[in-house]
Amino acid sequence: MKKTIKDFDLNNKKVLIRCDFNVPIKDGKIVDNNRIVTSIPTIEYAMNHGAKVILFSHLGRVKSEEDKLKNTLEPVALELTKLLGKTVTFVKETRGASLESAISAMKQGDVLLVQNTRYEDLEGKKESGNDEVLGKYWASLGDIFINDAFGTAHRSHASNVGIAKHLPSGIGFLIEKELKELSILDNPEHPFVVILGGSKVEDKINVIKNLVNKADKILIGGGMSYTFLKAKGINIGTSILDEANVDFAKEIMNQYSDKIVLPTDVKVTTEFLNDAPSRITNVENIFDNEMGLDLGEETINVFSKILESAKVVFWNGPLGVYEFSNFTHGTKKILEKVASIDAKVILGGGDIVAASKELGYKDKVTHASTGGGATLEYIEGKKLPGITAIDDIN
Ligand code: AMP
Repeated sequence: MKKTIKDFDLNNKKVLIRCDFNVPIKDGKIVDNNRIVTSIPTIEYAMNHGAKVILFSHLGRVKSEEDKLKNTLEPVALELTKLLGKTVTFVKETRGASLESAISAMKQGDVLLVQNTRYEDLEGKKESGNDEVLGKYWASLGDIFINDAFGTAHRSHASNVGIAKHLPSGIGFLIEKELKELSILDNPEHPFVVILGGSKVEDKINVIKNLVNKADKILIGGGMSYTFLKAKGINIGTSILDEANVDFAKEIMNQYSDKIVLPTDVKVTTEFLNDAPSRITNVENIFDNEMGLDLGEETINVFSKILESAKVVFWNGPLGVYEFSNFTHGTKKILEKVASIDAKVILGGGDIVAASKELGYKDKVTHASTGGGATLEYIEGKKLPGITAIDDIN
């Protein structure tokens, strides 16, 4: 068990919190503030317990001076000021005299945001390469380190692993919740049903390998299902194919034929466009010039029936091109199903969370994980360095 922010006396301490403020920004305006909103409980807890709160985050990638201008955290400081109802001091640099003097002027309950940690990547990837000197320097600015950035927990960076090495450390409320909900999958109740979709098999190989023993059924839809159908010798027309992984698909189906469930009918079209004419067909009858972009009704029914008795569901990847309104049906119907059953339902590791939000189901499941790559690595059974680096409860 990892220490959490609640395990520390924060009074009059300089508390460094690694947040995930990697929000979409367009023309200097934040398009979606969800990541900032969800960071507030940890920040407010530290403020209310008498800490001087110093926030770190990355934003996008910084490979040029131009990227620096584009990826300044200044808009985030303004948004935080609004959400916290208190002025958040923004320091435009990631190190140096201005940062140090701003910190020494802080009073209890004050909040300061340090510039985008990836500014340090411009000369020699010091942040992303976990430069020893940088991690030690940032740690020297505080007394306690709290990691609350789940989205980068699978990376060993100076602003998480680097700082944690030199300070007493714990996790914030966001990471605590992620670990609690994802741990349902460590030892799941049965029937445990996994739903996999999205575009590429390649990204999910390790997820399949790690879950295939635990799962009672793996329902495969979306773009990746065509690689599996092809492996069964079915003509998939121009549907998306992950050629390099046809053999993997063959092997896993041979070994676990009772567990893996593929679509039997799909919605096909001739062009990758929302409005191109489409039809629903049995998978055996896809024409050479057709591509499958959604599930058919028979498949939706088969998947739904299996899900009815599930006790735990993990779902990664949409079951069709949900971005096109004419091809969201399968993803939507299965979201509707998982929201209605008496099971713990966890969505995570990429586009399915965005799809569930867009289609109105994000708040109707047990947990929609925020982690992307970090969630997938957790599911693959890997240790996340940003969490391993945090102190254990003795
Ligand atoms: P992933 O990042 O692996 O979750 O993949 C998500 C993407 O897969 C989304 O952009 C979907 O549009 C895409 N996708 C889902 N089904 C299909 C399909 N049948 N053909 C092509 N792309 C698909």
